[in-house]
Amino acid sequence: MRLLSAVLAAGVLYAAAAAADPIPPAPDRAEGEGPHERLILRGGILVDGTGAPPTGPVDIVIEGNRIRSIHTVGFPGVPIDPDGRPEADANTREKDIEGMYVLPGFVDTHGHIGGARQGTPAEYVYKLWLGHGVTTIRDPGSGNTLDWTLSEKRRSDANEITAPRIRAHVTFGQGRDEPFTEPDQARDWVRDVARRGADGLKFFGARPDILEAALDEAREQGLRTTMHHAQLGVTRTDVLDTARWGLTSMEHWYGLPEAMFTDRRIQHYPPDYNYMNEYDRFREAGRLWLQAAGPGSERWNAVRDELIGLDFTISPTLNIYQASRDLMRERTAEWHPLYTLPSLWDFFQPDRTAHGSYWFDWTTGDEIDWKRNYRRWMEFLDDYKNHGGRVTVGSDSGFIYKTYGFGYISELELLQEAGFHPLEVVRAATLHGAEVLGMDDRIGSVEPGKLVDLVIVEENPIANFKVLYGTGHLKVDDDNTVTRVGGVRWTIKDGIVYDAQALRSDVRRMVREAWESEGRTLRQPGLEVD
Ligand SMILES: [Zn+2]
Repeated sequence: MRLLSAVLAAGVLYAAAAAADPIPPAPDRAEGEGPHERLILRGGILVDGTGAPPTGPVDIVIEGNRIRSIHTVGFPGVPIDPDGRPEADANTREKDIEGMYVLPGFVDTHGHIGGARQGTPAEYVYKLWLGHGVTTIRDPGSGNTLDWTLSEKRRSDANEITAPRIRAHVTFGQGRDEPFTEPDQARDWVRDVARRGADGLKFFGARPDILEAALDEAREQGLRTTMHHAQLGVTRTDVLDTARWGLTSMEHWYGLPEAMFTDRRIQHYPPDYNYMNEYDRFREAGRLWLQAAGPGSERWNAVRDELIGLDFTISPTLNIYQASRDLMRERTAEWHPLYTLPSLWDFFQPDRTAHGSYWFDWTTGDEIDWKRNYRRWMEFLDDYKNHGGRVTVGSDSGFIYKTYGFGYISELELLQEAGFHPLEVVRAATLHGAEVLGMDDRIGSVEPGKLVDLVIVEENPIANFKVLYGTGHLKVDDDNTVTRVGGVRWTIKDGIVYDAQALRSDVRRMVREAWESEGRTLRQPGLEVD
């Protein structure tokens, strides 16, 4: 969600995506144990990410950063018989996780690594992600510059930093001062970023012939592509156009309802609409889905089926618009005082110059429009999944009151609200995320031979995704004591075992010290406190 500076020149629309000053990279790794020569995780309940139901108790044998074997060792409610369990020799570490749930590490297909305006150091972002079980992220635009992102990617792959695996997509045109005016310029730019090691591209919009050439060249270069079909370009290229040109996936919802217009070609903007007034942009976005053909209609089905036929992936980032349907809920989320840096909190505040801070006069009616908008959007996503389409989990945190890690878990809840069974949600968050990144041969499920990226939690996330929030899940136990359960207990990335509670505690310390150093506490915008 990078502020797109668009200039209309001589009818030509182009995008120059200037990268901001990079944030501080992560310090050298001081956390985590392993990878171990041999490690056995004993007695967990496995949710393997493929869609298979939970099963256990199992023992998972790990060697280095690879899963060696998985053994069913008993039955629920019956003590585990030690006979027949994989044996531990002198070089074997064992971790007792009896009764805990084990899932594949989560994949975030829309994870901006902080931002200069948010003032978020990489360490803060990475620890919140790992603290919530996110072990792989796709940075959609490499806002810290491609070179910075590739450097962090290399350091993460070498486990020199405490960070998820990183896939670096770069925003089309990054680093160019001049607009694209010829398709060959786009091809040259694509070849250059491919040579430099980019994993993929992110588009917002471009002149159709330039966009088509860039997508074609990206395919030539083996780059994956994604796009935010911004309103400034969507009248000429909606998601059907770009998917036919080889686009791999789309972000958010832009371009989808527009492809399902039957009684119009252009969204019915009010006459005084101005794209750079983000209140206009997001208020009207809340009225878009109901302008498209309805569920089960001929147009709806045709778009759905053609996209599925093209093996097209949707990364909806539902959570990033949650404040649009209930602003106060997001503003007052309980984790802000503990986990949101003052600089990030300030960036969230209403501001005509900041992106995603459009609360200039957000009314009851605006929230109701968005509630309706969500219902139709969710219906499409559920229908898409039910017909075999791939939907993944992208958080887009760092905007609109969404704090890293927490935003990801909210996305899981929203996919369940859309109609996904929790196992379908976990598959979207793991195997399907790995597929769209072209990494499903090594991550995305818990299977022998795959890399060891795992999430371990004491409570059952299939029964309740709230147990994955860093603040845990509110519960009253048998003696009427109010308590919190859950929060990810361990996150394993590339065979290295991270204490997720300790990572979250690190972040709370960073946040506490930042607020203290500024001599202030978190306040709700515009609210006078006596
Ligand atoms: Zn974004």
